Amino acid sequence: MHELSIAHSLVELAAEEAERLGLRRVRALYLKLGVLSGVVKEALQFSFDIVTEGTSLEGADLVIEDVPVVVYCPRCQEARTLPEPMPMRCPVCGTRTADVRQGREMELYALEGDEGDGKDAPDRRDQTERSQKERLFG
Ligand SMILES: [Zn+2]
Repeated sequence: MHELSIAHSLVELAAEEAERLGLRRVRALYLKLGVLSGVVKEALQFSFDIVTEGTSLEGADLVIEDVPVVVYCPRCQEARTLPEPMPMRCPVCGTRTADVRQGREMELYALEGDEGDGKDAPDRRDQTERSQKERLFG
């Protein structure tokens, strides 16, 4: 079950990011998961609970957002979102395409938690009104 090793990496990454963001306690992890990523959502949830047991992330929620498949249609010359991952053909004109633009990713994009007392992050003191849900990238 490769979801277990994925959960491990996820927890490591989240722990590092939580420290960087000054989060004392992580309440939720937000993950974007492409439907073509090959990761079974339920298995990942299950693995996450096992991996976090006894760590600082124990009890945190893993919130998974499904990312649909987007292909580029050479005929329409436009990116199209597929209603289902298969078949890979343009939903508008029916042209087959293997040019996948989205749907394979797995990205931890936000953490939600309680901020610490800010003793190691003085530059955050003026940001008390910012959301506790921190975007990690971009
Ligand atoms: Zn098309």
